[in-house]
Amino acid sequence: MSVTGVCSICRAPGAQRVCDRCGSVVCDTHHDARGVCTDCAPDAGDHPAPGRR
Ligand SMILES: [Zn+2]
Ligand SMILES: [Zn+2]
Repeated sequence: MSVTGVCSICRAPGAQRVCDRCGSVVCDTHHDARGVCTDCAPDAGDHPAPGRR
């Protein structure tokens, strides 16, 4: 079972990730390592904060 759609952020086709928080389908580029989209990520930016909740 695979979810494929259009990235909610950049509108790129072939997005296969689903945000764990808002449920939006996003591409791998806009999917954070924590399972949320970069739009929901607390520190959506260039520098991730390791060990931070
Ligand atoms: Zn994207
Ligand atoms: Zn999200």
